Amino acid sequence: MTGFLDIDLGAVVANWRHLSGLHAGETAAVVKADAYGLGMLPVARALAGAGCASFFTAHLEEAVALRAALPEARIMALNGMLPHAAADFVAHDITPVLCSLKEIALWSAEAKGLGRALPCFLHIETGMNRLALPPAELAVLRAEPERLTGVQVEVVMSHLAASDMPEDRQNEQQALKFYAAALQFPHAKKSLANSSGMFLSPFFHTNLARPGAALYGMNPTPGRKNPMKPVVRLTAPVLQIRDLAAGETVGYAGTWKAERPSRVATIGVGYADGYMRALTNRGHAWFEGRRVPLIGRVSMDLATFDVTDTPINPGDALVLLGPEHGVDELAVEARTIGYEILTSLGRRYKRRYIGA
Ligand SMILES: *Cc1c(COP(=O)(O)O)cnc(C)c1O
Repeated sequence: MTGFLDIDLGAVVANWRHLSGLHAGETAAVVKADAYGLGMLPVARALAGAGCASFFTAHLEEAVALRAALPEARIMALNGMLPHAAADFVAHDITPVLCSLKEIALWSAEAKGLGRALPCFLHIETGMNRLALPPAELAVLRAEPERLTGVQVEVVMSHLAASDMPEDRQNEQQALKFYAAALQFPHAKKSLANSSGMFLSPFFHTNLARPGAALYGMNPTPGRKNPMKPVVRLTAPVLQIRDLAAGETVGYAGTWKAERPSRVATIGVGYADGYMRALTNRGHAWFEGRRVPLIGRVSMDLATFDVTDTPINPGDALVLLGPEHGVDELAVEARTIGYEILTSLGRRYKRRYIGA
């Protein structure tokens, strides 16, 4: 047994409600990558039950899987449209987020073939330089509006590169570029903010916000108190406790050496479970209010902790993630971001959905 992963759907819904209260527009939910590793279908069902009407996935395949569970929702696939995919978007009623003239041409051809208008989002480049319509392509659309024949642009959107850094001037620069470009589509609604963007000034509030991380309990305001409720709790039972003499080492390459007679607890969670090897000699778990240091290298299926000062027994559960030690804190210890911690959570945990 690796451990238990408890996912609090009530907290996800509470987080969505809290975000919805921050602005006047609609609040969608980003559920790409299996809802950041927490389970797209249970998460999306809970949110839809609470009134969330719009969902974003990354890929068409994710959107199709979501459509089966949510026949009424508006579902967008962020990553654009591959050639030959237009018919699948139509068949499953998925709204593409178009990112190039080429994709617009595919969607327009599909609409003409069907003899009806097809809805889409347009992703406008303002600074990410990843997937979006660059200014030159927008100019072509302005000069040749017939390229949009049959294409009903419901929403124009863009994505902020530095929304978690409120002082960064790039945020205002991107918003200004976005609002200027959006003038080209007077009938379209606008969508700009991700989780952190919703906590910037109202200048960043639009008709449709696209939070992901904050729904799942990550702090959208780094450096300030986390306004979101924790969603995940990850616990792992201790498999064995060993008594070590001073001078003995633990794990591969003996990177931790006992300075004194020590007790070492081993759990059945390792880097194959997304408990990252970068936590080696840096991570912490918790037990009954005490912080327990991770010692030695994290193995594929095992990790070890110094419990010399902790009254813990085999079978007791160490808390790896929870209110005591959140996703963002573990991410710092693993030298990454909470997004990567959640999306790496392994498939071997016993998942339990609570609060639904
Ligand atoms: C992932 C993503 C989001 C959600 O971002 P969070 O930081 O998780 O809130 C919003 N918009 C786009 C385009 C994205 O790719």
